[in-house]
Amino acid sequence: MKIPYTHHEDPELAIVLGVGKEHGIDEAMITYTSKIDVKDWVLLKCKYGCGNYGKSYSCPPNSIPTEEMRKIMREYKRAIFVVSKTKSPEDQKKFKKILLDMEKELIKNEFYKAFALVPCACDRCEICGTIEGRPCSNKDNRPCIEGTGIDIFSLAKKHKKNIQTLKQMKEASESYGLILLD
Ligand code: SF4
Repeated sequence: MKIPYTHHEDPELAIVLGVGKEHGIDEAMITYTSKIDVKDWVLLKCKYGCGNYGKSYSCPPNSIPTEEMRKIMREYKRAIFVVSKTKSPEDQKKFKKILLDMEKELIKNEFYKAFALVPCACDRCEICGTIEGRPCSNKDNRPCIEGTGIDIFSLAKKHKKNIQTLKQMKEASESYGLILLD
């Protein structure tokens, strides 16, 4: 649902797309936390399928447990689902920073509950503090979406996105971010 950000009737989307525009992000949609599934099976993909498991504060078991995430989701009604074209790890790293900028801009504009969830593990430090036994010093660290149990596949499909598994992908094409809104 591509909408020119300047003509948008939803101020929150105008803010997000306003931040995203200069980075080529032009797709964001309001979604409802009632549509977002938080499932325990999602963490199986982290634990038995991802090299970041236990190696980052943004990933399980150091991230937000699914039960806690379900409680948090009940304290929000709406969220913003952001789509970005990413062709490389650098693109994805940039996308994470943009999601933070969107969160901050929303907070500046009275959406004080805004909180970003990003794709994949935090990669700000050479070696994450969780491995070196030091606390995370980065206040901009945000949890990985799937690491909280959020089923991003079902959400993307509910928004008619042609999400693909890594095997299906010829090349990385899209990344998804979520900003809990209000
Ligand atoms: S900022 Fe560093 S210590 Fe914090 S989660 Fe990211 S990599 Fe780990």
